[in-house]
Amino acid sequence: MPVDKNSPRIYNAGMEQEEKIKKLAEMLKNARHAVFFGGAGVSTASGLPDFRSPDGLAGRKYKWPFEIMLSHEFFFAHTAEFYDYYFKELDLPGIKPNAAHLSLARLEDAGMIKAVITQNIDGLHQAAGSRNVIELHGTVSSAHCVRCNRKYDGEEIKRRVPLPKCDCGGLIKPDVVLYGESLDGTAINRALEELEKADLVIVGGTSLAVYPAAGFLRETSGKIAVINKEAVAEDRADIVILGNIAEILPCLLYIAHR
Ligand SMILES: [Zn+2]
Repeated sequence: MPVDKNSPRIYNAGMEQEEKIKKLAEMLKNARHAVFFGGAGVSTASGLPDFRSPDGLAGRKYKWPFEIMLSHEFFFAHTAEFYDYYFKELDLPGIKPNAAHLSLARLEDAGMIKAVITQNIDGLHQAAGSRNVIELHGTVSSAHCVRCNRKYDGEEIKRRVPLPKCDCGGLIKPDVVLYGESLDGTAINRALEELEKADLVIVGGTSLAVYPAAGFLRETSGKIAVINKEAVAEDRADIVILGNIAEILPCLLYIAHR
């Protein structure tokens, strides 16, 4: 287990993982308004790549780094190449929710989780049955025409590649926030509202050091629990559980819900 000597408080090395999950289950049961804040690690068990790990998009061999290929400018300048990348790496066929998504949906059904705020764009929380989902970076599930703003289903793009055009002649762009674009204001406000109300935020599958997670988590005065496969430097965390979120959340659901 990696240990960050600068923030020893969060690595409660004497405490077994199961004890920690039990403690988090207790926190969840006592919470009035618990919110889940998730990142790429929630979807990796579904077979989607994360961004920055060596197995993720950062490690793939392309002419340009992913920050370029997924940028606003690249979309307009190299649309066909953008879509080639998009359907090879981001919007993959046959992707299904994993045990983490399903557990969160069950926790929402049980009234124990009020909202899921996600940095992911794969739509898997909704596919799992979560209802109050806030997608900070948009979604692959829908798209729009950049000229007339007509709405399209994400699937429609696939039928029109390599250069998906609207009937008006404008390009169809997925409702995903690209590099160089700002987050959707409505999503930000909904997320902030949930975080302000929250007395417990469970952060999963993300490094808190990276924008925008770090900024958003400053907006809560609630307790913070972190579930991540690698240690995270977050001295605000009240509890950190290191491990696979697709294994930990089902345990949490089981313990909290019995
Ligand atoms: Zn149009």
